[in-house]
Amino acid sequence: MTLRRVAVLGSTGSIGTQSLDVISRHRDEYEVVALAARNNGALLDMQAKEFGVSADRAVLAPTDRQLAELARLDDVDVAINAVVGFAGLPVTISALEAGKRLGLANKESLIAAGPVVAKARAAGGGEIIPIDSEHSGLYQCLRSGGTSEVRRLILTASGGPFRGRSAESLAGVTVADALNHPTWNMGAKITIDSSTLMNKGLEVIEAHELFGIGYDDIDVVVHPQSVIHAMVEFTDGATIAQLSMPDMRLPIGLALGAPSRLNEAFGTIDWTSLSQLTFEPPDTGAFRCLGLAYAAGRAGGAVPATLSGANEIAVEAFLAGALRWNEIAEVVEEVMQHDVGPADDLEDILAADRIARERAKKVLDKRLADRRTQ
Ligand code: MG
Repeated sequence: MTLRRVAVLGSTGSIGTQSLDVISRHRDEYEVVALAARNNGALLDMQAKEFGVSADRAVLAPTDRQLAELARLDDVDVAINAVVGFAGLPVTISALEAGKRLGLANKESLIAAGPVVAKARAAGGGEIIPIDSEHSGLYQCLRSGGTSEVRRLILTASGGPFRGRSAESLAGVTVADALNHPTWNMGAKITIDSSTLMNKGLEVIEAHELFGIGYDDIDVVVHPQSVIHAMVEFTDGATIAQLSMPDMRLPIGLALGAPSRLNEAFGTIDWTSLSQLTFEPPDTGAFRCLGLAYAAGRAGGAVPATLSGANEIAVEAFLAGALRWNEIAEVVEEVMQHDVGPADDLEDILAADRIARERAKKVLDKRLADRRTQ
């Protein structure tokens, strides 16, 4: 097999380091040719040394332009977009326009810029292999039938650390409580999003954009064991589920090697100890972000960008101790009530994101001011 050359953008974060771990175990198949990281220069230097990446291709605190350039380098076969948040957008657009394979862990870029990403994918002929456990699961299940045979997609949600809690009891939760995810060990932003179910809502939009299935045909079911990652129900009533241990190196391996699977398993299911798989509907009253995301997805255009941008600001404020957990949904909802502009090109998306963040900050400032005068 020929060596696949990989750019790992966002290399010092959770997905970035796990991607390099997979590559380090399969050096006869993959070679790292570019790295970028927003912070942790010491780790980036170590990574560059370990994988033999030249200094000009291991970029600390890259600009949008540098990220885009690294993603479309001539000798890159696979660009792993492990950048956190909306900042990952240049990688997604650039890799797809250049006809690369995009291993997409950065869901925000696809969610915020859906119409623009679709154009870039069509124009450049690039392909997206999702690095998100649910979407990798869907990708695998969808091998069982054609798109016209799909009745619905089912995303599972662990429910996060606050599953089963009432809306009232959630008002006083702390940052530490919210960061304490029961099954997955991830970055702070996505862990907070998991606690609010915004992550699942964003994943619904992500599934719609990736697989072209309508919102009425995408469902969410809470499955605390996180063993089933996704299911696809087909027109004949057959449901195909994807089960595996919760380890992101499986989706990463598939993004690197698809259509081939890695010849190494990062944990397998022990059927003698796995005694039950349980399911329950999500509590959309206590976890309002899920419904907000469905609404944004259905509205389309720049509304998902607005949702995602406002959410990033709200989550930052929560992590900084400036906002209560239950206010994250309130801030997002308030920002979504404003009119948004078109979503025809990248400039539109950047504007929608910027405006959403400004509006979110205004909402935050007002809340903080109100709190001080109380
Ligand atoms: Mg996920």
